[in-house]
Amino acid sequence: MKSWTRREFGCLTGAMVLAGLGPRSAAGEASARVVVVGGGIGGATAAKYLAASARTIEVTLVEPKPDYTTCFFSNLYLAGLCSLESLTHGYETLAHRYGINVIHDFVTAIDPIAKTVGLRSGRILPYDRVVVAPGIAFNYDALAGYDEAATQVIPHAWNAGPQTQLLRRQLESMEDGGVFVLVAPPNPFRCPPAPYERASLVAYYFKQHKPRSRILILDAKDSFNSQDLFLDAWERHYPGMIEWLPAQFTGGIKAVDLRERSVKTASDTFKAAVANVIPPQMAGQLAQQIGLVDQSGWCPVDPITFESKLQPGIHVVGDAASAGDMPKSAFVANSQAKACAFAIVEALTGSERVSPHLFNTCYTFLSPDDAVSNAVSFKPAAGTIKIIDNFVSQVQESAETRHRAAREAQSWYAAFTRDTFG
Ligand SMILES: Cc1cc2nc3c(=O)[nH]c(=O)nc-3n(C[C@H](O)[C@H](O)[C@H](O)COP(=O)(O)OP(=O)(O)OC[C@H]3O[C@@H](n4cnc5c(N)ncnc54)[C@H](O)[C@@H]3O)c2cc1C
Repeated sequence: MKSWTRREFGCLTGAMVLAGLGPRSAAGEASARVVVVGGGIGGATAAKYLAASARTIEVTLVEPKPDYTTCFFSNLYLAGLCSLESLTHGYETLAHRYGINVIHDFVTAIDPIAKTVGLRSGRILPYDRVVVAPGIAFNYDALAGYDEAATQVIPHAWNAGPQTQLLRRQLESMEDGGVFVLVAPPNPFRCPPAPYERASLVAYYFKQHKPRSRILILDAKDSFNSQDLFLDAWERHYPGMIEWLPAQFTGGIKAVDLRERSVKTASDTFKAAVANVIPPQMAGQLAQQIGLVDQSGWCPVDPITFESKLQPGIHVVGDAASAGDMPKSAFVANSQAKACAFAIVEALTGSERVSPHLFNTCYTFLSPDDAVSNAVSFKPAAGTIKIIDNFVSQVQESAETRHRAAREAQSWYAAFTRDTFG
């Protein structure tokens, strides 16, 4: 297996971006209509690359919120290292530069026979193809005592915006010496390293402002992504501050008590000064409602076109999709969206086939100037998607290498959000 360097992955990402912004196809006479549902990373990227690739396709993007706040870098916000505004992006460029018809509404139904999308406002949008990118929903049934209303007291902060603000306010008003209890979900879930990045950056904040405070991670799993890198960093940066309790130790997470602000496991009850419960996850509600999910709770898709294996003519990208070895990350959502957009352009205009490249790159902060990365390339194989190459940061890396990764992460954020939102 080839071992990738960070530089090589950076080049590949740039090449992919340029390929997507290449000459527009003039093929096809009739105007075709594509409706994209969800203006998150998957949906916004799909809409942009559809509109940029074929003038003959009319692209409509439906998203209820007027702007989008990224989950990635929201842990930096929790640590007081950036503002939420700096993580928030509007849809103006997609509308004005790419001619996308952006509608702020909520999709309530999709009729695959009539080929229409129904909106909460009552509007009906006809389509030739539809791309569904609703992100995740939370499986509240799996955690006694925790539901949508409870998130206003004990936030999950797993969709960025008001939830992240609420958690930040709670951390700010917590007294020094309190315990921050973080409940980490079972696999699969949005962004495998993110709960542990959150613990690291909250520890950084405590170290600056509340040094007697502690972090307790109650995990639904027995191991987690890049565990060796995190355990090493916690020992170096925050000795004695973070305790991780795997499911085999606690017997698993059983219930949340809102009034007591505590989390009950099979073996014990843990009282929190501030609690952050990240519940088990599944594909966004719309995907479930219109029959795109299988028994796993996620949407099986064709590994080349991202067309649903259950509902022909409907494509699914991003966290909602079940796409073999690909994790649920923003980079993956963006990569899948491009592959999907090129496949739709080909199907609707008869243009030349573009062979898609599927990648993931994740930067994870252990402290503000100590970051690690994981870069993976994938290819469709045997009806699914397999890893073909993998770069992972190592425990023994120098401080300079880690500083450089932290700087690269900042540049990645700027380039990536520009690639997605214009
Ligand atoms: C703390 C944290 C840190 C993270 N860090 C990273 C990172 O460093 N790198 C990385 O690559 N990834 C990271 N991620 C993961 C990343 O945020 C997600 O994987 C990504 O947002 C998934 O994109 P998506 O388009 O599938 O869903 P989303 O971005 O959630 O977008 C879904 C959109 O669909 C809309 N929607 C839902 N239902 C409807 C409907 N019925 N009608 C219309 N619109 C609808 C929603 O309003 C939303 O805007 C992180 C996640 C978290 C929680």
